[in-house]
Amino acid sequence: MKKIISFDLDGTIVSGHYGEMVWGHGIPEAYAKRYSMPFDDAQRYIRKEYESVGDGEIIWYEIRHWLERFDLPVQADELLAKYESYIVMVPDAKEVLEELAKRYTLVVASNAARLFVDKELHYSGLAGYFTHIVSATTDYGMVKKEEHFYRRLCELLGVLPREVAHIGDHPVFDHDVPAGMGIEAYYLQHEHSAISHQFSIKDGRNVINNLRELLDRL
Ligand SMILES: [Mg+2]
Repeated sequence: MKKIISFDLDGTIVSGHYGEMVWGHGIPEAYAKRYSMPFDDAQRYIRKEYESVGDGEIIWYEIRHWLERFDLPVQADELLAKYESYIVMVPDAKEVLEELAKRYTLVVASNAARLFVDKELHYSGLAGYFTHIVSATTDYGMVKKEEHFYRRLCELLGVLPREVAHIGDHPVFDHDVPAGMGIEAYYLQHEHSAISHQFSIKDGRNVINNLRELLDRL
């Protein structure tokens, strides 16, 4: 008997543009202003700096680390607020969550930092549908949603993997990992995303193309 439905956040219930704007536009813009250089040069430099750390490191996710590292005179909250109009829920998210919330306990399992997760959920108006909101990086110090992440999530919720369904737009960390440990996983495949193309070769994934499909599949 399924009890819990877990959702990835970015690219699953909220579009991924918000993070891109804060990291790829907001920080370079602040840097360009601080050091009086063209925006494009600042953007190139910042991207290289991000890459030099890489998303396998926990500090990569910590915006305050980067603001300090670049010595930027801007607060994280300020920067996050500046781009909140880019927080957009995916089509049908509200209707689908509303329907599912009648039958299941809904949770968010994201690897974005808590500052971003909270901002996105509150601004999109979706926060109220979830009983638990977990940031892998901030709450667990984990950079990827590997098996130990899902184990800990199940422990937190007091359920077995088979009592959980998880939905997300990463074919490995939202599908293959949870599916491999007995969670009913759904890979939300976006036709045009680069990551979908990169991973689409593998068969046997439980694929959905939009959230509405969940209402029939779960
Ligand atoms: Mg995602």
